[in-house]
Amino acid sequence: MGAPCLDLAAYDGPRPQAPRPPRPTQKIPTAETGATVLDSFIAGLPKAELHVHHVGSASPRIVAELAARHPDSPVPKDPEALKEFFTFRDFAHFIDVYLSVVDLVRDAEDVRLLTYEVARDMARQNIRYAELTLTPYSSVRRGIPDLAFMEAVEDARTAAESELGVTLRWCFDIPGEAGLEAAEETARLAVDVGADGLVSFGLGGPEIGVPRPQFKPYFDKARAAGLHSVPHAGETTGPQTIWDAIRELGAERIGHGTSAARDPELLAYLAENRIALEVCPTSNIATRAVATMEEHPLKDFVAAGVPVTVNSDDPPMFGTDLNHEYAVATRLLDLDEAGVAGLAKNAVEASFLDAAGKARLTGEIDDYLAAWPR
Ligand SMILES: [Zn+2]
Repeated sequence: MGAPCLDLAAYDGPRPQAPRPPRPTQKIPTAETGATVLDSFIAGLPKAELHVHHVGSASPRIVAELAARHPDSPVPKDPEALKEFFTFRDFAHFIDVYLSVVDLVRDAEDVRLLTYEVARDMARQNIRYAELTLTPYSSVRRGIPDLAFMEAVEDARTAAESELGVTLRWCFDIPGEAGLEAAEETARLAVDVGADGLVSFGLGGPEIGVPRPQFKPYFDKARAAGLHSVPHAGETTGPQTIWDAIRELGAERIGHGTSAARDPELLAYLAENRIALEVCPTSNIATRAVATMEEHPLKDFVAAGVPVTVNSDDPPMFGTDLNHEYAVATRLLDLDEAGVAGLAKNAVEASFLDAAGKARLTGEIDDYLAAWPR
């Protein structure tokens, strides 16, 4: 998601044939926590995340810090009330929470604080590398000068790397609902202003009524400047949107892509061309892109040979985090530890890390698996 999608349609694609209830994964509780062995494996596993939004990653802890800087905000200040505020109820509530956090990011120091604290939450989950989707258009339109925005995120990125061991890269995305003016401004911010950590160019927001091809000139500009193309597509609309993202916008990965399951030719194309899907299971249920978790097409993607990565999208707002998404995927795909490590390696492979960075992180994952159980 990212910017809230106000015009959701129910996923109307075919359901997987006769969905089987997934086999439970190993349910061996550890001593104190009741977590399974696989949960423990996932928690310690070095991971990469490729589809996660900046404002959408603000946890109650971070929101409390931002709210303290802006006492006039209507966001609850009391920790218990804030926790309740953050308990996902429905999509309308998600939008309320999202917009209230947007309202708290008012100056460059808010941007820096949010970015660094998101990295801190990532470090706690052993996320070692993340491509974080920023929507600089929203901040700059609010009056944060473009260079101050870039300086703030770059300062946070440098500090996150040295102090937290989390490597961050940026995707600047167009908030699709804001139209071509936002597209033009986002392309300007990405190409003419730029930031050292910027690797890709995206497109979020609603899909219905926001056709992908109109954004081609802006993606052309970004790609000509060496940025990778990673639009959201096929989350709330059919497979044609994914074809458009590939053919018109040069998509190298697809955000969500859930409706690809309806098009065998598209699945074959994604598999053959190694175009990875950024799958966000809990988000897909929360937004009703997919009706139930048992019907999630993740297993169809894997069966078709499509590279899949697992991601959290807007984690605190959907009551999840990356570790939880790995646990969900583990259940859906009936994975053991080696299979879970394989998912983590998929994300490294599909990332825009350089070859040395990929080799290093893949090596960390292999070493972790080889040393398991500790
Ligand atoms: Zn998203």
